[in-house]
Amino acid sequence: MKKKVFIKTFGCQMNEYDSNRIYDSIKNIGYSKTEEQSNADCYILNTCHIRDKAKEKVYHEIGRVKKIYKQKKKPIMVVAGCVAQAENEEMLNREPYIDIVLGPQSYHKINNLLKNFSVKKKEEETEFDSVSKFKFFDKIENKNNKVSAYLTIQEGCDKFCHFCVVPYTRGPEYSRPFNQIIKEAEKLVKNGAIEITLLGQNVNAYQHYENSKEYRISDIINKLEKFEELERIRYTTSHPKDMTDDLIDCYSSSKKLMPFVHLPIQSGSDRILSLMNRKHKVEDYLKIYSKLKNINSEIEFSSDFIIGYPGETEDDFQETLKFLEKIRFVNSFSFIFSPRPGTKAANLDIINKNVAKERLITIQKKLFNNQIELNRSMENKIVEVLVENRLNKQNKLFGRNKFLSSVIFEGNESYIGKVVKVNVESSNQNTLFGKIENNMKAA
Ligand code: SF4
Repeated sequence: MKKKVFIKTFGCQMNEYDSNRIYDSIKNIGYSKTEEQSNADCYILNTCHIRDKAKEKVYHEIGRVKKIYKQKKKPIMVVAGCVAQAENEEMLNREPYIDIVLGPQSYHKINNLLKNFSVKKKEEETEFDSVSKFKFFDKIENKNNKVSAYLTIQEGCDKFCHFCVVPYTRGPEYSRPFNQIIKEAEKLVKNGAIEITLLGQNVNAYQHYENSKEYRISDIINKLEKFEELERIRYTTSHPKDMTDDLIDCYSSSKKLMPFVHLPIQSGSDRILSLMNRKHKVEDYLKIYSKLKNINSEIEFSSDFIIGYPGETEDDFQETLKFLEKIRFVNSFSFIFSPRPGTKAANLDIINKNVAKERLITIQKKLFNNQIELNRSMENKIVEVLVENRLNKQNKLFGRNKFLSSVIFEGNESYIGKVVKVNVESSNQNTLFGKIENNMKAA
């Protein structure tokens, strides 16, 4: 009988991609996925270290699992992902319920760990071995059959922003071989992907040398452009320093690269950017913005903001507000700074919590208003939507427009996997609602 695995994923698209690849791997040793968390032989928590109190959330989650399995046979408990990497064997010492701790660059070891599992022996694998990992996964088919698929092209980061754990949890920058990526993309398209999002913690830093040629993310985009069935290309997350001209040029040469750029700035104050070790200035960001807008005025931006970074004065915060007058973001993520253990900023004095809260409220009001207004400006207009799935509760279709905004509308399932025209009738901060255009026929 097949053994069952339950996988719970926290965090970003990269973790979602990793969870799918872990499953592709352990399927080969007899595991099948269960959606019921109470009947698994193996329980995998794929963790994220970006949010506040990540570590405590993982222990809390394990507490829940323990209760679920109190009267049953205990599953093999695997903690994977960035918290596993950051905490390593500490986790095994603190929580004996955990059997295996597996860092993000050691996922290729999971089959052996599960095959040789013994209740008496705890295992911890947190080496940074990206080369072996991707060599292993290159031989395992990516079984993803979603309309919109993720494809990791790069991992890790060498930039060491002072607030960020990524260089410590994902390791140094590693770019997968170009041909390996293209092979996986071909498979995804064959399995039905209409859209591919290229992933990396520093995705536009992608750089791979093969046969004396340098490959950049622009080469991947140009190659994917030629895939007939593929209609949309995206990438995330990028860094302003790596927005090189070859990538910017793709916005004029490619018809499939979506006119939407998620480019974190973090602060509108050069002083704070320097304290953060961001390696770019506000002016650099604005230059990229102008270059892209000159190529195509339709391009929209989203960003990330850290509010209340140690040392942020009222003047710095006002600079961030001023910056928002220059660029109206389609959407953005904004958080109050919270220290991550092991990072340089972890030991700095945090600013007054109430002040930080007030600033967050002020900036979010501005950002959310932008979103509401931009969504409203799309009402009574036709937008192109890639239909991803049916929302069961609402019996409606769900898809995304070019700028990654959610669109919900009525229609039958034969539209899934197609780009359709939707007439937007109403909107709120996060979603557009509408009707499919009458002349659109399901094929
Ligand atoms: S560039 Fe991004 S991933 Fe790298 S350290 Fe800075 S915030 Fe983290």
